[in-house]
Amino acid sequence: MIDAVGLQKVYRLKKKQVTALNGVDLHVRSGEIYGVVGQSGAGKSTLLRSVNLLERPDQGTVEVDGQALTSLHGTGLRGARRRIGMVHQHFALLSSRTVAGNVAFPLEVAGVGRAQRRTKVGELLELVGLGDKARAYPSQLSGGQKQRVGIARALASDPKVLLSDEATSALDPETTEAILVLLRRLRDELGLTILLITHEMDVIKRICDSAAIMADGEFLESGRVLDLIGTPGSLLARSLFPLPDNGGPDTVVVTYPRSFDRPFMSELTRRFDVDVNILGGGVEEVAGQSVGRLSVDLMGNRRTEAIDYLTQQGLLVEEAGQ
Ligand code: ADP
Ligand code: MG
Repeated sequence: MIDAVGLQKVYRLKKKQVTALNGVDLHVRSGEIYGVVGQSGAGKSTLLRSVNLLERPDQGTVEVDGQALTSLHGTGLRGARRRIGMVHQHFALLSSRTVAGNVAFPLEVAGVGRAQRRTKVGELLELVGLGDKARAYPSQLSGGQKQRVGIARALASDPKVLLSDEATSALDPETTEAILVLLRRLRDELGLTILLITHEMDVIKRICDSAAIMADGEFLESGRVLDLIGTPGSLLARSLFPLPDNGGPDTVVVTYPRSFDRPFMSELTRRFDVDVNILGGGVEEVAGQSVGRLSVDLMGNRRTEAIDYLTQQGLLVEEAGQ
């Protein structure tokens, strides 16, 4: 749904120049929630603004829903941009307008008639759970409610793609959770494709199907979250699941999909005559699936064989003490 290739963007300031994008390729499948995570200054916002060409990259191409945005200008570009909604960290609401007036704004700009606007705004506010707030002003709303208005407004033009720039970064954890649940429901119900950027690893864990880690204008790693957490040495896996700090030279950490229903630990002790001492473990929800993680001390002459065996079963085994 989104295909950006070779994006390059350099900001030239008076004295120095900043490379905000340094050859980024981004591929977002239709209907997926794709998260880009990275520290402040990594180039995330520049990337997002390049996808709808609010920022024109110096080099590279952007295609959204089969349309080559980088070859469009003026009216054509503005038309294409209408199919891409955008949500901002600080909501960017008009304080002099009511909730309904804010959501109606893009419809007015697009020349939609009054009656049709009214119906559409009503539907959108219901969709985001603000059916009773149409006449309220932004100053009367909580942060979470303001962001719901921002989301409703972004959906006014029936976009296929929603871009979210740190939509939950100004919100407390509970409100963040509620907004993430809303975004996932909108993806499911409307078939939206969502590209979001965040500096919070937890957002990636909670709702993203795919993710990229960005630093200094580059993707360090990208792919499906479930694939990445099963990849030895993956940065994303390491950030989502830090290795236990109580590990010693014998410690291994096994990561496995919860659907893996073989009793692999008792198999190990039987087949390889190793001793197993459990240090910790848990099950977490990642990309809509349960992923188990177990840290154990593994001891015995055939320890290496035992580890190889687990790896052959498709489990991710990491030696924490090394
Ligand atoms: P992030 O969203 O990951 O914090 P940004 O994309 O906002 O990163 O910024 C990437 C780099 O580009 C930063 O060094 C930032 O200072 C610089 N930058 C971003 N926008 C501009 C601009 N309009 N003019 C000059 N420099 C900019
Ligand atoms: Mg930013």
